[in-house]
Amino acid sequence: MTQHRIAVIPGDGIGREVVPAGLEALEATASRFGLGLEFDTFDFASAEYWQRHGTMLPSDWEETLRGYDAIYFGAVGWPEVVPDHVSLWGSLLQFRRTFDQYVNLRPCRLLPGVRGPLAGREPGDIDFIVVRENTEGEYSSIGGRIFEGTERETVLQETVMTRVGVDRVLRFAYEQAARRPKNHLTSATKSNGISITMPYWDERVAAMQGQFPGVRVDKFHIDALVANFVLHPDWFDVVVASNLFGDILSDLGPACTGTLGLAPSANINPERDHPSLFEPVHGSAPDIAGRGIANPVGQIWCGSMMLDHLGHPEAAAHLLGAIEDVLAYGPTEAPLTPDLQGKGTTAELGQAIADRVRTRD
Ligand code: ATP
Ligand code: MG
Repeated sequence: MTQHRIAVIPGDGIGREVVPAGLEALEATASRFGLGLEFDTFDFASAEYWQRHGTMLPSDWEETLRGYDAIYFGAVGWPEVVPDHVSLWGSLLQFRRTFDQYVNLRPCRLLPGVRGPLAGREPGDIDFIVVRENTEGEYSSIGGRIFEGTERETVLQETVMTRVGVDRVLRFAYEQAARRPKNHLTSATKSNGISITMPYWDERVAAMQGQFPGVRVDKFHIDALVANFVLHPDWFDVVVASNLFGDILSDLGPACTGTLGLAPSANINPERDHPSLFEPVHGSAPDIAGRGIANPVGQIWCGSMMLDHLGHPEAAAHLLGAIEDVLAYGPTEAPLTPDLQGKGTTAELGQAIADRVRTRD
């Protein structure tokens, strides 16, 4: 039996409510496909841990987590107890950096039965993924202010692109495009305005094209690209972007497909030298935490992405299919949560999806 060890970190707020629903669906999928998943749950990376210890993580967290095949993460942040910048920098951002999770992956897919904000769009019209570079680019901390307080006051911040950093994220994106049915890669650029780094990005995209002869490649300037996400979402399959552009696209993309509660994401170390981390796009949502009404679909979908990453694409597709089936029943037939116009609870919707995993073909 395949064995994968998963570190589970529920974190704060609705993270603690949606993670159990996610685990139930994962367990159902594992037993259906004969996968051995072993889960160990940790209480760190939470406000409660911070209250007890004055830090977000134990000093040996790296050794502890390093041995796992993946990290299944809920949400971190409870501003009443610990400021957001402390909780985020003290936990999630440490994981991303230390484990060199240089790809941020967000699927954007309009699911059946979900009312998205774009009029007239059907499931199938929106089905693409955004691949964001997660470690360099525009988010360097290199720069500063000179002549401060004078009329010559000048502020600059450098963009850093390394060949290794650019090529590794592009390779991941090309590989994704090569394995998806449309074999189409779109690169986000702005080489008409940003005249040094962006032409370099374009150059590296072109240089790799020969290694993926089956992949059709195009590029859009970021301004046109965001417009087309809204006007022609059906044009896209895999979209790859630098850190800043990817940040923008990976919020806009899921926003085109419905509620925040549905959207999953992955922080991936493709070489598998370190564990990758799977977390819903939403945060701890203090406004609804403790009421049992959070939508667990984003968290459950993260489980599907995790199975795919662990080398089980069929199990991953089956789990996503179960989500789609249950959403398609609609709020009168299925216990959908209030953000999906239903009256169901987190646990009921999680249960319905796990049941569907067991019964669907
Ligand atoms: P954080 O700072 O941790 O991101 P936040 O206060 O920004 O927290 P989010 O968790 O990002 O809150 O949520 C933003 C809004 O979306 C909130 O009103 C929240 O209730 C809603 N929301 C987020 N996730 C879900 C979910 N899974 N189900 C239903 N509503 C959700
Ligand atoms: Mg937020």
